[in-house]
Amino acid sequence: MPDDFEAMWSELAPLGRSAASGGYFRQPFTSVESELRSWFREQCAARELPVEADGNGNLLAWWGAGSDAVLVGSHLDSVLDGGAYDGPLGVVSSLAAIDLLRSRGVAPRRPVAVGAFAEEEGSRFGLACLGSRLASGTTTPESARELRDRDGVPLLDAMAAAGVEPSLGRADWLDRIGCFLELHVEQGRDLVDRERVVGLATEIWPHGRYRFDFTGDANHAGTTRMEDRHDPMLSFAMTALAAGKQARVSGQRATFGRVDVAPNGTNAIPSRVTAWLDARGETDESLVRLVAEIKRQGTERSGRDGTRLEVTSESVSGAVSFDPVLTAGVRSRLADRWGDVPVIPTMAGHDAGILAAAGVPTAMMFVRNPTGVSHSPEEFAEMADCLAGVEALADAIEGLVS
Ligand SMILES: [Zn+2]
Repeated sequence: MPDDFEAMWSELAPLGRSAASGGYFRQPFTSVESELRSWFREQCAARELPVEADGNGNLLAWWGAGSDAVLVGSHLDSVLDGGAYDGPLGVVSSLAAIDLLRSRGVAPRRPVAVGAFAEEEGSRFGLACLGSRLASGTTTPESARELRDRDGVPLLDAMAAAGVEPSLGRADWLDRIGCFLELHVEQGRDLVDRERVVGLATEIWPHGRYRFDFTGDANHAGTTRMEDRHDPMLSFAMTALAAGKQARVSGQRATFGRVDVAPNGTNAIPSRVTAWLDARGETDESLVRLVAEIKRQGTERSGRDGTRLEVTSESVSGAVSFDPVLTAGVRSRLADRWGDVPVIPTMAGHDAGILAAAGVPTAMMFVRNPTGVSHSPEEFAEMADCLAGVEALADAIEGLVS
């Protein structure tokens, strides 16, 4: 007999958890992630759901065979020091929803697939939603082969070391998918403010990652007079402040969350500061304007500091609208038990956004997060809300397969 949601959740809880912070380190193609993948396979085996591996690191479990499948699921990897819910909640809820549908005696007239997508967070290879990008042909195998982690390990080597047989490229399972419904913990406080347990998504804001390379001249921290310095740290610091201000005044998002300093010595003026900007805007145009303004201010400051700034776009995803027909169908199916389910935009990227952009009719369902905190050990959802999410997901799937 397969485990229920709570049992599955407690089995996953220790995997990849840091004793120091309580957060999770579930980077793709590591020993921890291999454990997660084995766990997924065991759970599917216990439910007699055959699992298909696509050579991009993605796993799909099938309840029924054929085409026009209803895809559910999410991802098992985390950001560095992330929470337990972002990703795994969608995978575990999907398996529990299948249990619930079976206990209701539902015999689906189209297949249901549960996906566990690889490297959704981009925490190791820098490209978010790598698994779904490759499977949908959004990212080419050639460009993925160039990807290296922070230690210089190429993607293919990492996959092989984790026992994943790489065969990068568009996956043939994509042709068997009729629609995708991804359940996810909410990464904001919208549902709390509305006093609602579940919600649906309208769209994903456009977002991008940009590398800012500031270069200057390394020198002695004691003997170099302040007026003689070309210190890239100052150029970066002012740029980070400008990014925060520009995003605030325009109602958008800008974050420098990762910095690399050379030589990174306490008593040396740095020669180089590399910082990564994560920026999100309400429209494609407003995102372009936001990043251009941050770059303009950074360049101007670099000019004053005698340093140089070069900006490289590492990945940019345009605005994604979820399928209005699918979303409305799910919403009306949920109305009986869940009332008028709110439909809200999200500023976070998801595999659902990649598949939607690739032409798969896609919807997203959110489960309330009492603090709104995500990508942090503090990320949380009440067990009662998680169980309600399972029920809502089962209701939605039932509507789609009956
Ligand atoms: Zn996620």
